Amino acid sequence: MKILVTGGSGLVGQALKEEVVGSEHTWIFSNSGICDLREFSQVLLYFGTRKPDYVVHLAANVGGLFKNLEHNVEMYEDNMLMNFNVLRACHQLKITNCLCILSTCIFPNKTLYPINEAMLHNGPPHDSNSGYSYAKRMLDIHCKLYNDKHGYNYKCLIPTNLYGKHDNYSIENGHVIPGLIHKCYLESSSNKVNKWVNVWGTGKPLRQFLYVNDLARVIISSIDNTTWQKETTSMIVAPTEEISILSVSSTIGKEFGLKNIKLHPEKSDGQYKKTADNSLFKKHFSDFEFTPFEKGIKETCMHFIRNYSDVRK
Ligand code: NAP
Ligand code: GDP
Repeated sequence: MKILVTGGSGLVGQALKEEVVGSEHTWIFSNSGICDLREFSQVLLYFGTRKPDYVVHLAANVGGLFKNLEHNVEMYEDNMLMNFNVLRACHQLKITNCLCILSTCIFPNKTLYPINEAMLHNGPPHDSNSGYSYAKRMLDIHCKLYNDKHGYNYKCLIPTNLYGKHDNYSIENGHVIPGLIHKCYLESSSNKVNKWVNVWGTGKPLRQFLYVNDLARVIISSIDNTTWQKETTSMIVAPTEEISILSVSSTIGKEFGLKNIKLHPEKSDGQYKKTADNSLFKKHFSDFEFTPFEKGIKETCMHFIRNYSDVRK
């Protein structure tokens, strides 16, 4: 099969590139320089020329809590345009297989826990990322509408917070793990006498962190093994363990020889928790082994240190 991947230069796309080595399929990885997905004419031309059997749609305007707070409008518009254009082009070109990526951060803010796939549209998302969330929710709806009307196989995976080597390490715009890694690197290489792990917020929020190569493996399995797709449009991918931001901070701090934590509670905590139910995932991926958190963090920190001048930041 010929599989076209959008967002091939990003965190998930680069992990997928690593994991498809030796695959029997032909993989094409695109990015915004090859095709700006916000422009329908470009998408139609690019997909039409490449003629894929399957589209893996990873591309999005993505960012951490603080980017979302500042740029809710752009997050909404860019993601609405990209998602709409990708599915519309697939439909027009009769590409009947498409796997998209949502996120557990788009679920309702006021909810019962654990959140499961059926609760996605049951109330407003957290204010901090409402633009990104509503745009992503429409992807779930758009897939369902096409599947119902035309019998397509348009599906979505819903991962929890991702982290890994090819992340965006921007301190202002990135997610918590790459942000902390970058801050710890700068602190540990400074001449200061007292060095700190500077943690924004109270350190109390909880997250289920998923190593990005694990998600890449699930994407590949989902293409060849479609059992979960017979049961649902969208499936959560989540390790069970919830980790506090404080605990994440000390794990990362250790990699840089930093023991002292300084909290900055004047900064937002965002959503306190988004505990996701992984029972559907476990039912279909009963043998799946998640990368242990400490191992994933060690690999990510080593990659960052070795490639400091080249990483996205
Ligand atoms: P990322 O590292 O920021 O990469 C984004 C990708 O999208 C890049 O390849 C980028 O291409 C591409 N892109 C952005 N704007 C584009 C445009 N206008 N036209 C074409 N391509 C465009 O993001 P990621 O973390 O890999 O995220 C992948 C997917 O996972 C997204 O759907 C995201 O919502 C979802 N997700 C991420 C997380 C997380 O913690 N990171 C958690 C849950 C779900 P360029 O390099 O050319 O800009
Ligand atoms: P979220 O999981 O969607 O809220 O996004 P983030 O990955 O940005 O995680 C945000 C959580 O980590 C919030 O509780 C922040 O207060 C906390 N946090 C602590 N230090 C940092 C940091 O350096 N960057 C970011 N983005 N968040 C941080």
